[in-house]
Amino acid sequence: MSGAGFILIINLAVAGLFCVSFLLIAAYDRRYRSARWFAGAYVFGMVYIVLEFLLPLFANVSLGVFLGHQAFLVSLLLLNIGLAHRYETAPPRLILVAAVAASVVAAMLIPGLPRGSFLRNFLYQGPYFLMQAIGLYIVLHASATRPAGRRGIDVALAAFLGFSALHFLSKPFLAILLGGNGATAQEYLSTTYAMASQAMGAVFLVATALILLAGLILDMVRDITARSETDSLSGLLNRRGFDERLADIVDRLPVDGTPVSLVICDLDHFKKVNDTWGHAAGDRVIAAFAATLQEGAAGHHVLGRIGGEEFAILLPGSSLAAGRLFAESARTAFSSRGIDGFPADWRFTASFGVAEIAPAESAASLQSRADAALYAAKHAGRDRVRLSLAYGRGGDNALAISA
Ligand code: GH3
Ligand code: MG
Ligand code: MG
Repeated sequence: MSGAGFILIINLAVAGLFCVSFLLIAAYDRRYRSARWFAGAYVFGMVYIVLEFLLPLFANVSLGVFLGHQAFLVSLLLLNIGLAHRYETAPPRLILVAAVAASVVAAMLIPGLPRGSFLRNFLYQGPYFLMQAIGLYIVLHASATRPAGRRGIDVALAAFLGFSALHFLSKPFLAILLGGNGATAQEYLSTTYAMASQAMGAVFLVATALILLAGLILDMVRDITARSETDSLSGLLNRRGFDERLADIVDRLPVDGTPVSLVICDLDHFKKVNDTWGHAAGDRVIAAFAATLQEGAAGHHVLGRIGGEEFAILLPGSSLAAGRLFAESARTAFSSRGIDGFPADWRFTASFGVAEIAPAESAASLQSRADAALYAAKHAGRDRVRLSLAYGRGGDNALAISA
């Protein structure tokens, strides 16, 4: 068997393995629909490889060349549709249809051109270049406009698609440099050009799949982490997610005295709400309180539901006075809020404790001071805000709470 033929067999096996990997990811969760398109792309890649192999057996060689050319083009087309799904954007249908039409025209012109000619090779590779350039456009456009911005993996994918597009464009020149692509289609596999072309193809086949898989796996890890740190009832961070963020912010606190305040709050007499109205109604109150906090919060505030009906809000850049303002406005907003399913004039309240971080204070100490202030608010009759005024004096936090 020729060297190029050998590489084709390896490509076939590798493409098959990647195809299975993509299908496994698609089966894991319906949200990774792009993986199905990528699997499809690799199936058509395999069809192309098989056709390339069978070419010497074709009675009508032009038909074999045409089918192989179109199979690989469909593979790149599916790859682009998958990329659009991956970046949650609509596939650029018009551009894709135009590219397919151009490729069909090119494919029809190919049989009429002398086999070794530059124009023929250009018409053969040009549509591949076009498809990959469209893939590059999809990635650059979608990753620049999405809220999360462009990430390292997007840049790697874009750079790679650019390279891949150029590699197709370079092939007609490479064919000239390496002494042509064989006098006949049957001879193609025994040429040096076929060897180089298939070897390059193998590298791009593996690299494309690895970058796509890495991107999908990063997305999955991100999703799973986000889910494990989010409370489903309130949509806020859960205790684990909140503690993580709090520790991060306290660890990275600049020494220039930038303030950070923590508000901890708890719904008042909530057991009675559950006992009177039922647990499901209690859940609606919890969700309404979370919504009130969110409405009052800015983008850089960190909100968490850290217990059943206990919440925490971290306010980076806010002093104790600003923290108090936040707590007071959340308190009044909640105590004047009607909640669906309860009598129109029925109101609920919550109590709040606020503390501002002191120099070199730990997250745990800040939390326990805010807690002590909350406890004081409950003790003083609920539906109020209390502040933790001092840190580290006498060690009795309760003594340093605002009246
Ligand atoms: P206080 O004003 O002192 O905070 O009184 P409280 O009744 O709110 O006191 P406590 O913290 O002891 O009661 C909290 C209640 O919250 C107990 C529990 O039944 C209820 N609870 C905890 N998690 C949930 C939840 O997810 N949904 C509902 N509906 N209730 C919850
Ligand atoms: Mg309570
Ligand atoms: Mg409680």
